[in-house]
Amino acid sequence: MQPPQSLWWSTLENPVTARPALGRHLDVDVAIIGGGFTGLWTARELKRRDPHLRICVLEKSVCGFGASGRNGGWASALFPLSSDVLVRRYGRETFTHQRQLLEEAVAGLGTDAKADGIDAHFFQGGTLTFARSEVQVERLRASVTSSHDLGSNDQDVAWLGADEAAERANVQGALGAMYTPHCARIHPARLVRGLSDVNEKLGVAIYENTAVTRILPGRQGRQPEVVTVGASVHADFVVRATEGFTPTLPGQRRDVAPLYSLMIASEPLSDAFWDEVGFSRYETFADDRHLIIYGQRTNDNRFAFGGRGAPYHFGSTVEQRFDLNNKVFELLETTLRELFPSMAGAITHQWGGPLAMPRDLSPSVVVDYHTGLASAGGYTGDGVVLSHVAATALADLLTKPDVQTAHTRLPFVQHHSKPWEVEPLRWLGINIGLGLAKWADTSEDRHGVESRASAWFERLTGSSGD
Ligand SMILES: Cc1cc2nc3c(=O)[nH]c(=O)nc-3n(C[C@H](O)[C@H](O)[C@H](O)COP(=O)(O)OP(=O)(O)OC[C@H]3O[C@@H](n4cnc5c(N)ncnc54)[C@H](O)[C@@H]3O)c2cc1C
Repeated sequence: MQPPQSLWWSTLENPVTARPALGRHLDVDVAIIGGGFTGLWTARELKRRDPHLRICVLEKSVCGFGASGRNGGWASALFPLSSDVLVRRYGRETFTHQRQLLEEAVAGLGTDAKADGIDAHFFQGGTLTFARSEVQVERLRASVTSSHDLGSNDQDVAWLGADEAAERANVQGALGAMYTPHCARIHPARLVRGLSDVNEKLGVAIYENTAVTRILPGRQGRQPEVVTVGASVHADFVVRATEGFTPTLPGQRRDVAPLYSLMIASEPLSDAFWDEVGFSRYETFADDRHLIIYGQRTNDNRFAFGGRGAPYHFGSTVEQRFDLNNKVFELLETTLRELFPSMAGAITHQWGGPLAMPRDLSPSVVVDYHTGLASAGGYTGDGVVLSHVAATALADLLTKPDVQTAHTRLPFVQHHSKPWEVEPLRWLGINIGLGLAKWADTSEDRHGVESRASAWFERLTGSSGD
């Protein structure tokens, strides 16, 4: 399997060569399946706590092959469920605890990467979400007010009028923007490859080109076992960190729905262009349309810009050909040029990949002490920081099972989402939801009225509450 041809991959300093595959039986304390942020941060955190732990990472391709090496590079405090839903489900105190922990985790990720000598181009300049219609102004202003009602202040989230927003960045047709400082821009492949090197130096055994075919739970005093093509691993704990690829494992087809997010990147743009457009603090950016878009100014002065809109594939199928979709790439380029009409530069990279959406939109971090099986994931599009937080929670659960910590108190720890519906209901529900989001944006553009499509989508995915 080839590594993805993303901008990130092509701007790594060193070419990626695969580490040897697992070719013999192994006994370890912790076996981790998946060499993305979740798997590698977990290994890193466990080694920090006990350098003698025997840990292996089994990766079917190379570390960073999945979403961790291909994403938009928003290290944000975002969570897939809305604040209202969280307050309704878990109460105000738990919501506030989670919000504050995630906000602190943004800077924490940068500090941890730096301490390990990884230059991930981390820059915490915040996020600007632009309003490009009156409906979007109304929605974003309401969102700022609601955040303030729930305990945030102007330092956490603020509304910027058109002039104030333009001082930070010139986006065509912007009527204002919501600003939050709780986001950093990163180069994701530098982070994930750097993490794999750090783990290797600390003695974590990393096997690449090693596909796990079965995970057998431990029972009656027997340890859990991981089976690969031609070898097996016994461990006290097995951590599954396979995110969007999870449905390809036996018996896990309905655990999460793999959704595709796609990205493009421009060539490096001139100083004159950036003088006019701004983003001098590398703020990540979006607007408030229903079908999510996200962008950043990279360290080498390109745009990296992505969005949803690719269809969900029947049966939760994950195939490499789904990473590319010309219709979505064209739409992304059109949108980027609409936002920045003076951008003359060419598009040089197009790529995409699967992320994981659970049925109730809540990520989960789970350890089953009876079977020795653990897992973390289901971050939808917010896994850069959430995977770091999940790794700490996992390490807490594994190394001090009887102690409650700030991380194990998070409501998505030891949380189980119900499985997705059987097909064709799953295919119909998700693709209708995606279609409605597109329709809502078109109807807002045409008529300037807010549609109820996003509420329908929330209802379809269960995110509107219990
Ligand atoms: C295009 C795109 C843009 C995104 N943008 C953002 C963003 O800007 N901000 C944000 O917070 N989140 C974003 N996300 C989501 C974020 O990237 C993910 O949530 C996060 O990287 C998940 O990390 P992970 O380690 O759990 O999974 P992954 O990085 O997907 O890693 C899973 C690994 O498991 C391996 N694997 C799978 N099956 C097996 C098997 N059977 N045996 C062995 N190994 C296996 C895979 O090869 C893969 O390397 C984006 C995702 C995509 C696809």
